[in-house]
Amino acid sequence: AQIKEAEFVKSSTRTEDCPSDGLPEFALVGRSNVGKSSLLNSIVRRKRLALTSKKPGKTQCINHFRINDSWHLVDLPGYGYAAAPKELRTDWAKFTKDYFLNRSSLVSVFLLIDGSIPAKKIDLEYASWLGQNEIPMTLIFTKCDKRKKKKNGGTRPEENVEDFQHLIREHFQAVPPWIMTSSVTNQGRDEMLLHMAQLRNY
Ligand code: GDP
Repeated sequence: AQIKEAEFVKSSTRTEDCPSDGLPEFALVGRSNVGKSSLLNSIVRRKRLALTSKKPGKTQCINHFRINDSWHLVDLPGYGYAAAPKELRTDWAKFTKDYFLNRSSLVSVFLLIDGSIPAKKIDLEYASWLGQNEIPMTLIFTKCDKRKKKKNGGTRPEENVEDFQHLIREHFQAVPPWIMTSSVTNQGRDEMLLHMAQLRNY
């Protein structure tokens, strides 16, 4: 499940404008600063790639990357970015929701959750919305290399992950698949690639 080729395809502002080649795709989404671009870089091992989508203006778009000429990784705008004007925020929410509900080639949403801090309400709300709409998701816990000392009031990634799963279980019958990752140590990288390969072959 190695990545040999990764290529930026296009930025779209509407689902209708996304590539129409029908290649299966996985969408990365999460709170601003969750470590989405770092993870994208760590997956493709090409620094320039995700930077393309960090250019001003492009962060508000649906960014498609073609991998090995056979599937797409999709970078979606981060949510919970308080500095954005309110109208813009609702507009992003509208088009990402439309993308989730109407993109037929979407295999699974990779919901990024910061594993180094306790669960945030907005992440649970996001996961709930996806679950209620029966959109397949995988929970990707980021920054799992970060270990605050307990005596300083910090929590361990394992505890944060367990708490999040517990809260999810209160909303749904089942907990979605989940992977603990770090862009610093590359923890979870191979597991993510394998998971995506398995989902593509269904
Ligand atoms: P984005 O806004 O979701 O694209 O987040 P970035 O990838 O820009 O990362 C936000 C901040 O978190 C940066 O300061 C990164 O250096 C840091 N960061 C991202 N991933 C990791 C990680 O796996 N481990 C640690 N320790 N820090 C990370």
